[in-house]
Amino acid sequence: MADVIRLLPDNVANQIAAGEVVQRPASAVKELLENSIDAQATKIQLTVEEAGKSRIQVVDNGTGLSETDARMAFERHATSKISRAEDIFAILTKGFRGEALASIAAVAQVELKSRPQSQDLGTCLRVEGGKVTRQEFCNTPAGTRIEVHNLFYNIPARRNFLKSDNVELRHIIDEFERVALAHPKVQMNMEHNGSNLFELPSQNLRQRIVGIFGKKFNERLVPVEESTPLLQLSGFIGKPEYARKTRGEQFFFANHRFIRSGYLHRAVCRAFEGLLPADTHPSYFLFLELDPQRIDVNIHPTKTEVKFEDDKAIHTIVQTAVKHALGQHNISPSLDFETEQQFTPPRPSGSVPPPGVHVNPHFNPFDQAHSGPKGAPGDRAPTPPTSKQSQEWESLLNQLPEVPDQKQQQTELLDENQVPEKRPYLQIARKYIATYHSGGLLLIHQQRAHERILYEQLRGDAQGGAVPSQQLLFPAQLQYSQGDFALIRELFPTLRALGFDLDDFGNNQLIVQGLPLHLEKTDPQAALDQILENEKENKAQGQRDMLDDMARQLAKVAALRSGTVIDQVRMAGLVEQLFACQEPAVGIFGQAVTTHFRAQDIDKYF
Ligand code: ADP
Ligand code: MG
Repeated sequence: MADVIRLLPDNVANQIAAGEVVQRPASAVKELLENSIDAQATKIQLTVEEAGKSRIQVVDNGTGLSETDARMAFERHATSKISRAEDIFAILTKGFRGEALASIAAVAQVELKSRPQSQDLGTCLRVEGGKVTRQEFCNTPAGTRIEVHNLFYNIPARRNFLKSDNVELRHIIDEFERVALAHPKVQMNMEHNGSNLFELPSQNLRQRIVGIFGKKFNERLVPVEESTPLLQLSGFIGKPEYARKTRGEQFFFANHRFIRSGYLHRAVCRAFEGLLPADTHPSYFLFLELDPQRIDVNIHPTKTEVKFEDDKAIHTIVQTAVKHALGQHNISPSLDFETEQQFTPPRPSGSVPPPGVHVNPHFNPFDQAHSGPKGAPGDRAPTPPTSKQSQEWESLLNQLPEVPDQKQQQTELLDENQVPEKRPYLQIARKYIATYHSGGLLLIHQQRAHERILYEQLRGDAQGGAVPSQQLLFPAQLQYSQGDFALIRELFPTLRALGFDLDDFGNNQLIVQGLPLHLEKTDPQAALDQILENEKENKAQGQRDMLDDMARQLAKVAALRSGTVIDQVRMAGLVEQLFACQEPAVGIFGQAVTTHFRAQDIDKYF
C-alpha cells in the first residue's frame, strides 16, 4: 500500500489555525491594535468599512518593521516577543504567540507598509491567502500600516457565518474600547464607513472613560485605589445610583490587558450588594497590576480569560477595595457609623485576611421601587391554600354558578372573548388577578398580561401603517457613548416604525419628541436602554424580525410590574384587553399568562 500521510501545506495549516485566532472582524482588529501598542505607538488610527467585512486598516506610528522582519512577521510562530519558553510567563506585551498576522493573512488579502524610524525607505508587502504576492520598497511614514481586505474571502462558510453589520461593528467597537481604556495615553481614533466614531486624544483614565462613554460619566465615577504587595488595584467604579439596566461598562484589565473574570466580577458585585436596584448592573473600570508570573493569560486562545495563582486573595482585595471606595465617598447610605469603622479595609501585607466588611443586610434603598419576587408563576400544581387564603376565596366561590359540563378544558377558555364587566377581581400577592370563570378559578399574571397587551398593540399599530405617536410635552435629550450611539442610529428606522419620534441631536445625543402611543407613560431612556441592551446581547441574528423583537422589549419595559397594586377598574380593564388579544394565554416570552382551576381541581383541596 502506498504511503498516504502528508504534511499539510503551510497555507492550509495557517487557515486552520486562523479559525482559532480570527473568528470575526473584531478579532483581527484586536490583534492589530495590540500589535501597534506593543510597537510603542503613541497614535493609532483604526478605519473599518462594512463592519470590517470589506476593509480593516490600522495605522500606527510605532517602531515599524525592517524588510526582513516584515516578511518574517507573516510566518506562523514568528514573533519578536518570545525566544525562550520561560518568556511566555514573563511577557508583558499583548501578543506573544506569533500567530496573529499569519492567521489574518491566511484568510484575507493583506497589505503591509512599514518603516522603522531609522530607515529611509519602507517595505510594502502583499499577502493573499497566506502567500506573499508582492514585496517592494516604498515611501511610507515611519510606523506601520496594515490593511486587511475581504476577510474570509477564501472561506465562504465563515463569511456567511458573520452576523449583521450592526452586530459585527458592535464587536469591533468593544475591542477598540478595551484597548483605548487600557492605554489612555495613546491617541486613538476610529472611523467606520467614512464617519468618525472615536477621536480620543492622549489623556488620563478619567478623561478617557468620559471620552468613550460620554460626559455624564464624569460625575458618576468614584476612584478605587489599593496597593498591596501582591497587587496594585486602581481605576474607577460607577456610583450605585447610576447603575443602569444595561450591562456593558464592566472592565477588568490585568497588566493593561483586558481580561474576563466571572470570579472577580462577583467580587465587585458583592461589594455593591444591597446598594443596587434589582436588575441593574454596576459599572467598573478596574486595573490590576501584578507580577506576570502569577497570571496565566494563555489558557484561552483569544487571551481574555485568565487564571490567577492567588485568586482568593485577589478576590478579597478587589471586594474590599471597592467596598472601601463606596464607603469613602459616602454613597452607601445603609452604613451607620459603627459599621463604617470596620469599613476601612484591612490592608493586606503578605497574607490577606478576609474582608471585614459589614453591611446592614436588611437595608434596601430601593424598597419603594421594589419590583416584586421573581417566582415561577406558571406553576400549575398549586399547594393547598392556607386558611387565610381560603377565606379570601370564599366570597368568590360563593358566586360560582353551577356549570353543567365539568370537563371543560383550559384551552376552551381561550376561545371565549367576552369578559363580563361586573365580575369581581381580586389582586393576589400584588401580582395575580383572580376571578371566576367557567365555574372555576381563573388566575392571571398581571405583568405578563400587560406585556402581551402592549406587544399586540405595538405590533398592530406598526402593521397599520400610520403609526400613532404621542408627542412628549418635554422632549427628552439623551446622551450616549459613541459606540452605543452608532448602534442606536442604525435602529432609527425600526424605532420610527414603532412610533418613536426621534432624531440625531449631534454630539452623540438623541432627541426624543414622541413615544409610541401605548408607551406614553414610559421613560424614553429606560425604553431605549432596554433595546440597546437587547441588541448588545448579541441575539441579533441576521434573519430575525427586528420590529417584532423590539416590540417585545418595549412591552417588557412599559408593562405594569408585578408588585404594583391595582384597583378593580384597572384589573377589569386589563382582563378585558387581555382577552381581546390574539394569544391571551401565552406570554410574549413564552410563559403562561393565565391558569384556570376547574371546580374539581379545587375540590381536591377539601
Ligand atoms: P505576536 O504579536 O504574537 O508576536 P503577530 O503575528 O501579531 O505575533 O506579529 C508578529 C510580529 O510582527 C510581532 O512579534 C512584531 O515583531 C511584528 N509586528 C506586528 N505588528 C507590528 C506593528 N504594528 N509594528 C511593529 N511590529 C509589528
Ligand atoms: Mg500580535
